[in-house]
Amino acid sequence: MDLEERVEHVGSLVATQRLVDALARSADRSAGGESLAEVEDDCIREVVARQEARGLGVVTDGELRRLRGRDEVAAQLADVPRFGVARGRRLPAGEHRSGVSITRTALPSDTPYGVPANSLVDEYRFTAGISTRPVKVALLGPDHVTHLLDPAPGAHVHDLFDAVLALEQTVVEDVVAAGCRHVQLDSPGYLAYADPVCVAEMRGRGIDPVADLRQAIEADNAVVAGAAEATVSLHMCRSYLRGVARSPVFDPFAEILFDQLVHRRLLVDLDLSQADAFAPLRFVPRDRQVVIGVVDSRNPRVETIEEVLRLVEHAGRWFPIDQLALSPTCGFAATDPARQIGAEEQWRKLDVLVEVASRVWG
Ligand SMILES: [Zn+2]
Repeated sequence: MDLEERVEHVGSLVATQRLVDALARSADRSAGGESLAEVEDDCIREVVARQEARGLGVVTDGELRRLRGRDEVAAQLADVPRFGVARGRRLPAGEHRSGVSITRTALPSDTPYGVPANSLVDEYRFTAGISTRPVKVALLGPDHVTHLLDPAPGAHVHDLFDAVLALEQTVVEDVVAAGCRHVQLDSPGYLAYADPVCVAEMRGRGIDPVADLRQAIEADNAVVAGAAEATVSLHMCRSYLRGVARSPVFDPFAEILFDQLVHRRLLVDLDLSQADAFAPLRFVPRDRQVVIGVVDSRNPRVETIEEVLRLVEHAGRWFPIDQLALSPTCGFAATDPARQIGAEEQWRKLDVLVEVASRVWG
């Protein structure tokens, strides 16, 4: 691994006040001023330049275009003719941004899927056009997207799951065909399988957690099956469990998970308050790269270089240090503004990661 690959952020970045203001103005149709699209373009240029200045091997657009409140995959589903879509479902606080529910219509089941407007391709093309570095595109994994949608009364959730999966495969193939060589799946749901309370709830609903986990893994593998030219990564985090005062139990969940995922780079957010936080990494096959979340994307306090160095040393006891890289625990942009850190703090946290990487691997 080159030094520049040793630091990677998850994808989303905190928007500056200028973009926040432009979003507010765009919601108020009577307000004038510069257009939201222009402000987005400018802000993306700025965050790309700041990532390049830090020497990051892969950059993103900060997912700044996704602040308009439409989840990218849900937005695609809105255009799939097989489904009628009712907008406006309110998600519980803390859930991922989205606002869509689905009702199945009576169209024939052989109606082809179309992806009339793949917004990820547009996002990729713009950022690739202004960056000297490779650009990463991330999307929510099919398991999580399915959980955000409602099948119509009488429709089976498996049909919805299959539809989401087929659509995501097309989206990823299109992005790779457009030239993207770094595709990341965001699969925040996995750690629920390591949480005894969530597992008990699944069993209570008649769900076999292991079978369910295997299905989620198969789907996350299938989504990137058409992306052979790209480096595929998968981000799993504790956003599911954040704010819940209990610790995941990784065995035997981690053994199944890490053994079966095909993604080359795994961006993992483990509970750093635990003495053996990195122990689950012993299950990761040695041909993978593990990007460990070592600065907290939700806590404004900027970690010290010494703190992060200690974490790297701990992780090195469970996984070859040569195959490790560093990241924040999750994307910096939070659904809940109250839990979001300042835009400048995110850059200082990335500076710490860059410095630690140069000391460890430089
Ligand atoms: Zn995350």
